[in-house]
Amino acid sequence: MSGYGRTSQSNSCTPSGVISTRCGARGGARGRELWIIGIDSKKRELVDVCGTIDPKLFDAKIRRKYADTDAGFMADAHLPLGITDVKADAFLLNVVHFGKAEDFLYPLMVHELAHYLDQIDEDPAASDKDKNNAAAMLIAMAPNVRNHPSHNHRWAQHLAVGARRLVTDGRGGHKTIKEFVEAAIPAYDRRPGWDISIKQGMTDGTS
Ligand SMILES: [Zn+2]
Repeated sequence: MSGYGRTSQSNSCTPSGVISTRCGARGGARGRELWIIGIDSKKRELVDVCGTIDPKLFDAKIRRKYADTDAGFMADAHLPLGITDVKADAFLLNVVHFGKAEDFLYPLMVHELAHYLDQIDEDPAASDKDKNNAAAMLIAMAPNVRNHPSHNHRWAQHLAVGARRLVTDGRGGHKTIKEFVEAAIPAYDRRPGWDISIKQGMTDGTS
């Protein structure tokens, strides 16, 4: 039930607890809430983005876990918080990234959404090319990041599928899958000097 956020520095993706605000309507497609949480690294605080927060949820130990992360996604966030009257998933985003451009935010969000889809055991339905791209990502990652259980093959395949779809749709400001995934797995999370060796360019990776 842990979420894992991409780190903002050279340390590895860190396990996450969660804290949140309750945003949006109750009872969406999955009968759940989505909580949006800001991470304020300077103040070492979690920020209630759009709702009323229960201060009891801002446990110091959980705040520390998120202090240096760019973002995180966590399925079943209600469980570690001991909340029984609602089911919720939580998306966390560092406040320094609020308002940034799509070419930064889309890869970051697809990285985190891939963690979420992996956490809820979703099948990525990856093509052979997606699987190749996913393997190339994993090989390029720094050992301390790659070794984290959250950076597994299913996560990488979700990321590869998401990257292909967004590049194909012309969203997010990246012309190639390689550009997109190198934004999603930035240099500080890769082996020193390593690119992600995706040869394919546009759309389905054939051009
Ligand atoms: Zn990650």
